[in-house]
Amino acid sequence: MKKMSMFVGIGLALLMSVACEEPEAKPEAATGAPAFGIVLHGGAGTILKENMTAETETAYREKLSEALQVGYDILKNGGSSLDAVEQTIHILEDSPLFNSGKGAVYTHDGTHELDASIMDGRTRNAGAVAGVQRVKHPISLARQVLEHSPHVMLSGAGAEAFAAQQGLEMVDPAYFDTERRYQQLQKALEKEAAEGTSSALRPAADHKFGTVGVAALDQQGNLAAGTSTGGMTNKRFGRIGDSPVIGAGTYADNRTCAVSSTGHGEYFIRSVVAYDISALMAYKGMTLQQAADEVVMKKLVEFGGEGGIIAIDKNGNIAMPFNTPGMYRGYMDKDGRAVVKIYRE
Ligand code: ASP
Repeated sequence: MKKMSMFVGIGLALLMSVACEEPEAKPEAATGAPAFGIVLHGGAGTILKENMTAETETAYREKLSEALQVGYDILKNGGSSLDAVEQTIHILEDSPLFNSGKGAVYTHDGTHELDASIMDGRTRNAGAVAGVQRVKHPISLARQVLEHSPHVMLSGAGAEAFAAQQGLEMVDPAYFDTERRYQQLQKALEKEAAEGTSSALRPAADHKFGTVGVAALDQQGNLAAGTSTGGMTNKRFGRIGDSPVIGAGTYADNRTCAVSSTGHGEYFIRSVVAYDISALMAYKGMTLQQAADEVVMKKLVEFGGEGGIIAIDKNGNIAMPFNTPGMYRGYMDKDGRAVVKIYRE
């Protein structure tokens, strides 16, 4: 078994004292109107109020609210959960606040390699892309793979050729450059030089996973989930995390729930996080909250995997557990009630 970092060790000790999450929302219709809802994340990690300026906090809250509203409007107007997931993620991919699209982290070589996936809970068809460098909205490329390819996952140059063929918006790789992420890479390289290469992918104590993800239930009862990321700062050798891996970073099944993950991808892949939550509901009859807590607050914690998930079930119940100090997250239920949270609040 791999050695856990000291940070994880301390974090785990703290977590043992943290009770499992309370159910976030139970928007099941009292009126008989079909339940629908949307839930999103903008990454988990060491996100502490004392390290955040009021302006930065407001910027995150506003962008998360704007994104939620886009997805909510689609659902309220009878649109599909797949459309809501894709369009909501566009807002987050276009914002430099998050590690996806514009704002993606840098690889060890100073490039950006983007991963994304989307899954349709009705058909359990899925699309995923890994290591793309010129596609403005990787989530839309994943959707194209879902709808117009016999394959599930495409990578690198082949994925970009498919993107061009499908008429997706392509950008110069420099479009993804941001000063903030560049400085994060410099910090990671300095840390690596001081500690040796083995620390290349161990998150720093102040690390934030800025991946974005959305899960939605539409009025037709169809669930969908999607995730989009730049991966982890200083990744190398074509490293791919959990975000484009169906079952780990993203999963949706109309019989259970739709899930998107954020966290230390290696652990999320090995724990098959998103599918595990669905499976606990299917095979053990757990509620969404019970299943999500079991995986995020127990199994992942014991394993040393930092992060969290957002999920919605077939009845519109929502869960957003995380085992890090914070996670950018929020949801909107069918009554238009919006909740946006950042810290353990
Ligand atoms: N899960 C992502 C990865 O490992 C990182 C993140 O959540 O920000 O690539």
